[in-house]
Amino acid sequence: MADAPPPLTPLDESWERALCVVAHPDDLEFGAAAAVARWTGQGKTVVYAMVTSGEAGIDGMDPEECRRVREEEQRRSAEIVGVDTVEFLGQPDGVLEYGVALRAIITASVRRHRPEIVITGNFRDTWGGTNLNQADHIATGRAVVDAVRDAGNRWIFRDQVEDGGLEPWGGVREVWAFGSPQSGHGVDTTDTFDAGVASLEAHRAYIDGLGWEHFDGREFLEGNARQSGQRMGTAFAAGFEVFPMGWGD
Ligand SMILES: [Zn+2]
Repeated sequence: MADAPPPLTPLDESWERALCVVAHPDDLEFGAAAAVARWTGQGKTVVYAMVTSGEAGIDGMDPEECRRVREEEQRRSAEIVGVDTVEFLGQPDGVLEYGVALRAIITASVRRHRPEIVITGNFRDTWGGTNLNQADHIATGRAVVDAVRDAGNRWIFRDQVEDGGLEPWGGVREVWAFGSPQSGHGVDTTDTFDAGVASLEAHRAYIDGLGWEHFDGREFLEGNARQSGQRMGTAFAAGFEVFPMGWGD
């Protein structure tokens, strides 16, 4: 008999504010939206920051129109899971580069929102099988982890502090990456699973534009949520890889 995957440790839910930073509209909906619905339902504040507007995501649609459509879909999708603030950071879809420029943009977002938890998508090379991750996801996740540290240091991107009206923020305790093949933590999403599905379905133009035949959002999300749920002893769960942001771990 194959070894069962190890149990997931419950995520720390003793926080008030989280910031989700992902490369594209729809990224959160493929793995974290039901968890976000749970947390907003507990009275927590969750803010979304989209590094790009996913404007290169629909083959049959010009990027300028696509940007409008996808930003609108993302706002609606966020609203469904109790998120009122969605920032679009305006970086170019498909060609993000990990580096100082991207770190600065994300640092400013962390300083604006002052979260205790920052959530991003899987930035490992694969999803656990042989399918490779996408370049924007990897660039974003790596920059997020660095930006969380940059945000606390007033001498890094000091123009934001000296001229931009932002204060340093060193209060992020952990970065959580959903969808990671190395997820060791999880959260029960049984009660908010439907909101997560509705949140994905709000990306209608995008899903139709993918041209995946018979794509069923509920079925897709259920497969992952059940697997994680088995590791938590719940019907459904969302898995996360946790990166502690202190220096002692
Ligand atoms: Zn994406």
